[in-house]
This record gives sequence, C-alpha cells and structure tokens, in this order.
Amino acid sequence: MSTENPPSPSPSCCPLCGRANQCAMAAGRPPESCWCMTTPITPAALAAVPEAQRGQVCVCAACGAAPAPAHQPFAHRPPPAPI
Ligand SMILES: [Zn+2]
Repeated sequence: MSTENPPSPSPSCCPLCGRANQCAMAAGRPPESCWCMTTPITPAALAAVPEAQRGQVCVCAACGAAPAPAHQPFAHRPPPAPI
C-alpha cells in the first residue's frame, strides 16, 4: 500500500520533502540505530523544519545533508572538477 499522501505531519515522513525519512524511532526501532546518529544534519535543514514539527518529525537523509531544500531531484551535485 503506497498511496501518494499530501504533505502532512507524519512521524515517518520528512517535513521538508514529504518523503519517507527512514527514521528508526518512527519505525519502532531504537533511536541509536537511526541513520541520523551517524549522518550529521545541517543547521539549515533543521531551521527549515516548521516550528510545530521541530523535535517531532525527522527530516530525511537527503534534506538533512543538503545545505538547503531546493526543488531539485538531486541537491548534492558536486562542483565541476577542473581538468
Ligand atoms: Zn526530505
């Protein structure tokens, strides 16, 4: 069952992009096993979370690592390397 839900405050969905945040706590697993324990989340991503959902909903790995939630499928594109 994977219906496309509208952006709503769900503990298992990223408040920034609406995708599954893969939060361990939301899945009923111990928080120590969550990806966010090993992946640093940028302050910009935390600041982008609505006040009401702060501390309630986890962002996803993509939004947590991106400097800012952009409307692009891939936000972490490395800069062009000089030859
Ligand atoms: Zn996200």
